[in-house]
Amino acid sequence: MTETMRKVTVIGGGITGLSTAFYLQKEARERGISLELTLIEAAHRLGGKIQTIKRDGFIIERGPDAFLARKDSMRTLVKELGLESELIRSSAGQTFVLAGEELHPVPGGSAYRGISLRF
Ligand SMILES: Cc1cc2nc3c(=O)[nH]c(=O)nc-3n(C[C@H](O)[C@H](O)[C@H](O)COP(=O)(O)OP(=O)(O)OC[C@H]3O[C@@H](n4cnc5c(N)ncnc54)[C@H](O)[C@@H]3O)c2cc1C
Repeated sequence: MTETMRKVTVIGGGITGLSTAFYLQKEARERGISLELTLIEAAHRLGGKIQTIKRDGFIIERGPDAFLARKDSMRTLVKELGLESELIRSSAGQTFVLAGEELHPVPGGSAYRGISLRF
């Protein structure tokens, strides 16, 4: 019997497109399906809104910098990518928002305190 090649095109190389491509490849491999996967990204780089800059010894996130530890889907993705050892639990105790020249504490009880994991 001739095996059918499945052709899939994913549009967009942000976290949604990249994780879709990752799971499509994983599922195809596990089910023995031949897959020809194409990812189309309009920008010159992958990552979409996720953009990391390394400058003067600092790691600066221009967009997302964390996810909620209680979100199972992200924890599963990180585990399946083998990146668990690179996660840093938020340990600042207090998170601040910089507005103008002033740091404003994020109020207690908000989602970002204590339960986020940072790359
Ligand atoms: C300032 C900021 C801070 C944030 N902080 C957090 C956070 O801490 N934690 C968190 O979980 N979320 C955070 N978010 C939300 C998070 O960034 C988004 O939910 C997530 O990045 C969206 O991913 P995406 O792949 O769906 O879209 P995007 O990241 O927007 O990626 C879409 C990609 O598709 C490409 N594209 C679009 N149209 C086409 C086309 N026609 N052809 C080819 N390519 C195309 C774009 O160039 C882009 O690369 C934040 C968002 C912002 C703006």
